[in-house]
Amino acid sequence: MPVIKDAVCSLCGSLCDDITVTVEDNKITKIENACILGHSKFVGMFEHDRIETPMVRKDGELVPVSYEETIEAAAKILVNSRRTLSYGWCSTSCEAVSGAIQLAEETGSIIDSTANVCHGPTALAAQEKGSPSASLGEIKNRADVIVFWGCNPVHAHPRHMSRYSSFSKGFFTEKGRKGRKMVVVDVRKTDTAKIADKYVEIEQGSDLLLVTALRSIVNGHEDVVPETVAGVPKAEVLELAETLKNAKFTCIFFGMGVTQSRSKYKNGDAVSSLISDLNQHTKAVMIGMRGHYNVTGFGQVATWETGFPMAIDFARGYPYYNPGETGANDLLVREEPDAAIIAAADAGAHFPQKAVRHLARIPVIQIDPYANPTTEIADVVIPAAVVGIEAEGTAYRMDAISLRMKKLIDTEFKTDEEIVKDLTAKVREMKRGV
Ligand code: SF4
Repeated sequence: MPVIKDAVCSLCGSLCDDITVTVEDNKITKIENACILGHSKFVGMFEHDRIETPMVRKDGELVPVSYEETIEAAAKILVNSRRTLSYGWCSTSCEAVSGAIQLAEETGSIIDSTANVCHGPTALAAQEKGSPSASLGEIKNRADVIVFWGCNPVHAHPRHMSRYSSFSKGFFTEKGRKGRKMVVVDVRKTDTAKIADKYVEIEQGSDLLLVTALRSIVNGHEDVVPETVAGVPKAEVLELAETLKNAKFTCIFFGMGVTQSRSKYKNGDAVSSLISDLNQHTKAVMIGMRGHYNVTGFGQVATWETGFPMAIDFARGYPYYNPGETGANDLLVREEPDAAIIAAADAGAHFPQKAVRHLARIPVIQIDPYANPTTEIADVVIPAAVVGIEAEGTAYRMDAISLRMKKLIDTEFKTDEEIVKDLTAKVREMKRGV
């Protein structure tokens, strides 16, 4: 019975790479080290609603067809489209992302990632102000003050605190949790906040106010700070600023509570400035708590290949990028796309109603291992192998460290990488009129 060590969990952006997997008769029967979310991905994948066969919608019904027929039908949609949206690509490998970008270029499409609805503003903030960062290994070994701002790792990244941050023991942090101060800034007392040393409750949408007040204090201008900031008494703000300033090494982990609340990318921009200010006194870094396991990888690959991390429009024959105009939701709400590819993501469940309504009106090609609300509006459904379990590939952890995911079991399904290659070849063939 093969026992595979150091497998990578392809669920959240922590990409834990110490998982031990036991395989019997091509089935995963035992998982060691994964959290409950990771466990449900490895073992639960046999129970989830897998797409069992390629399908094409005929007379309103999805009917099983051959893989080749789905590639033919999908290529036809793409060749006849004048404005295709290609969306998702964050729960798959970097190799598939690279192929998807080539396909978008070939078809003059717009390609966007799930960052559109999560950490997209983080990318904008990084472009404007930079993103002083470090590897999670460095944080494990050095950070004595850990801040979780607008995120709840107890639920979303369950092993983050034990492997990389609050509870982990490192070279200069051998006391683990006892040697670290843990601060949570949030609008409600989450389960992460309940185990913090300090919980700072702020008013919804007021992150920018609190970051600005902290910057004023760190820079010696506490006199300009009013008696209450973002619902937090000045004394507490002063105390937090002192904690950050007096740390040997601070890391602010921030989540969608920061990136998707009022002021959007200006919040990330301000956190970046706060980190720069703190670096006048101590060592400080920031890391976004990325959700989809390879959303960081999409940004990396897209940036190498096009110069931009997401929302890339190839309609002009070269990459053009202007989030707010070229984001997936911007386009759908303007009812612009006349076809869509949704891959390794579920726009049907996560997009606003108006965007989904438009998707339901246009031909949609779905590439995914699992059936989900997008399947209900898809016209061509291409089942894919589960990357990190049925296919190998590269992914980037939330700190932009690349890791190689292993293939653990065999499958009859094609990988996303193979599907996108076949689709690109078919589109080229149709365009040449062969
Ligand atoms: Fe998987 Fe994330 Fe849990 Fe690690 S923390 S085992 S990557 S779900």
